[in-house]
Amino acid sequence: MGRDDTIFALASAPGRAGVAIVRVSGSAARFAVQTVSRRSPPPPRRAQVRAFRSSAGEIFDRGLVLWFPAPDSYTGEDVAEFHIHGGRAVLAAMIEALAAIPGLRAAGPGEFTRRGVESGKLDLTQAEAIADLVDAETEAQRRQALRQYDGALAKLTDGWRTELAKALAWAEAAIDFSDEELPDDVMTDARQTAALVKDAITARLEEGHRGELVREGLFVAVVGAPNAGKSSLVNALAGRDVAIVSETAGTTRDVIEVRLNLGGYAVILADTAGLRAAADHIEAEGVRRALQRAETADLVVWVRDGSSPDSALEYNDKLDSNSVVTVWNKADLPWPAAQDGLKLSLKTGDGLEAVVEAITAAAREKLEGGGEAPLLTRARHREMLEEAVAALARAEAQDAPELFAEDLRLAVRAIGRIAGRVDVEDLLDVIFRDFCIGK
Ligand code: GDP
Repeated sequence: MGRDDTIFALASAPGRAGVAIVRVSGSAARFAVQTVSRRSPPPPRRAQVRAFRSSAGEIFDRGLVLWFPAPDSYTGEDVAEFHIHGGRAVLAAMIEALAAIPGLRAAGPGEFTRRGVESGKLDLTQAEAIADLVDAETEAQRRQALRQYDGALAKLTDGWRTELAKALAWAEAAIDFSDEELPDDVMTDARQTAALVKDAITARLEEGHRGELVREGLFVAVVGAPNAGKSSLVNALAGRDVAIVSETAGTTRDVIEVRLNLGGYAVILADTAGLRAAADHIEAEGVRRALQRAETADLVVWVRDGSSPDSALEYNDKLDSNSVVTVWNKADLPWPAAQDGLKLSLKTGDGLEAVVEAITAAAREKLEGGGEAPLLTRARHREMLEEAVAALARAEAQDAPELFAEDLRLAVRAIGRIAGRVDVEDLLDVIFRDFCIGK
């Protein structure tokens, strides 16, 4: 796939729709407009109604053309947009007309955005944010993606990078110049700056996987004794029948997962096997998996039957280790144990609202609780920062300015990779420009 090719693709969703948008990017975009609409592109960013013609010259649709000349476009190249009627045959005709033009080919996945990154219109974190915005199903995901698209993460990492590059410049000065030529505290300043940045990154890493959880979904395990109402609760939350609800104890032997939007947060709800001393080895395996799921979940919902003794109590210690929301179900039945906490009847629906609120609140606490909104939204971001912290820790231990500088350089590179900024030397040039040594 040549980078000089002009690419085209359907930018809107496939299928029947009022309008479909076909985007063209590259040096032949102007020619594509001329060929398909028989006229030069309209003035930049102004829509014009035109007839569109096939390669045989037949008019196949009428619609809008928009023209975004380089560099003021999504890709940084010349971009044309055709807004056609969103029918399959219309789209097929447009694709045929474009494919017939020399130098044009269908775009690969993500190719428009990739060109945007390559031409410097977007940094890598923004490109990731666009993918996240398109995939966002919940409010929290959308907010997080938009914040990243607006540059929150790039700003943070660029700030660290600039600070470290300054320290690097001081260290390099200490290598290149004699002591008499330099202020006394150059290396001290460099070390202090490196230490401050290391602390700042470490603090960010301590926010854990929150950003990834918002993006990928919080794992919630629904556990409890057989027949406590776990499947009924999962079904009620999901609003459709996904788990098997049955009166025979021990039917959910495996783990059943449902993805849902709970109060604006993406959660993956897992219905698990009932917890009790198992009757056979298949059930024992179900119990083992349920406990394992409870242990690895971000949140546990423990469903308890308030009308009967709880066989899950013997696993109390295992369930206690995580964030647990306890729900007392079957409040419609005679209630021997007077219990505090959330009372629910899945039979009548009483208390369901409060349970949804409690689970949502616990999810919110997990995802947003404690301080600033998370900015690290992918494992990739964390890995790069962990690499940077390791390099900075090594730098701290180095006495020789040369070795200190080398580790700092590795840290700057690792941080730069988050937003796709690779060149350390460029950064040094900028800093040395304001440097006064020898002047
Ligand atoms: P699980 O084994 O924990 O998944 O429990 P289920 O959701 O399969 O429910 C077990 C049985 O309890 C079913 O017969 C449900 O209809 C019943 N059940 C669930 N919730 C309630 C409730 O709030 N009140 C009453 N009376 N029965 C319920």
